[in-house]
Amino acid sequence: MSVHQNVKVILKELGNTKLVCVTKTVDAQRINESIRAGATIIGESKVQEYESKCDDLLPCERHLIGHLQSNKVRKAVQLFDVIQTVDSLKLIQDINKKAGAIGKVQRVFLQINIGKEPQKFGFMQDEILQTATVIRGLKNIRVEGLMCIPPFCPPEQTRSYFKRMKALYDEMQQNGQENFDILELSMGMSGDYRIAIEEGATMVRIGSFIFGDRE
Ligand SMILES: *Cc1c(COP(=O)(O)O)cnc(C)c1O
Repeated sequence: MSVHQNVKVILKELGNTKLVCVTKTVDAQRINESIRAGATIIGESKVQEYESKCDDLLPCERHLIGHLQSNKVRKAVQLFDVIQTVDSLKLIQDINKKAGAIGKVQRVFLQINIGKEPQKFGFMQDEILQTATVIRGLKNIRVEGLMCIPPFCPPEQTRSYFKRMKALYDEMQQNGQENFDILELSMGMSGDYRIAIEEGATMVRIGSFIFGDRE
């Protein structure tokens, strides 16, 4: 199957759920094939890799879905419409500052370490409401969603993590504040997106289903 056909198939299956077409390691030509087929959002993991191909891409919304190192914040703010992987207060304060310097309001998602894994990035579930209080004062930030990468396990076992994310998402939507508009719940990848959607994902991030396995 071609990239074009794969995108058509997945978009049809997703219906109202948004697709982030994960394009890490994929060249600009094949990315453009996915955009022509109807993909409207792409997701990249590395700022530098994305920078090397972004000038060749057709119009689309660009999301950062990999961990953002502090020395790449300025670049990321210049290049991405949405940073999905905001995983610490220090990082979001830095993003706020760099966005302010160029007069931008940066759209972000908060990454949740839903499996409480010590080696993984993200906010812990129980610190998120307190974190929201601090974020309230950041004028160049707009929080539009939550994202997670659940622990590596068989697809069916991811369900309990997705359920927890949905509960947190519902809770945060009720705790509205000025620069919070929690619209999206970004969870689910090629191996488990169906389960994520059943549990309430509004946005899934799919790479290998569309482009084939990465090396
Ligand atoms: C690579 C990646 C994906 C896509 O994974 P596939 O299994 O190829 O669909 C989704 N989310 C993140 C954060 C990724 O790094």
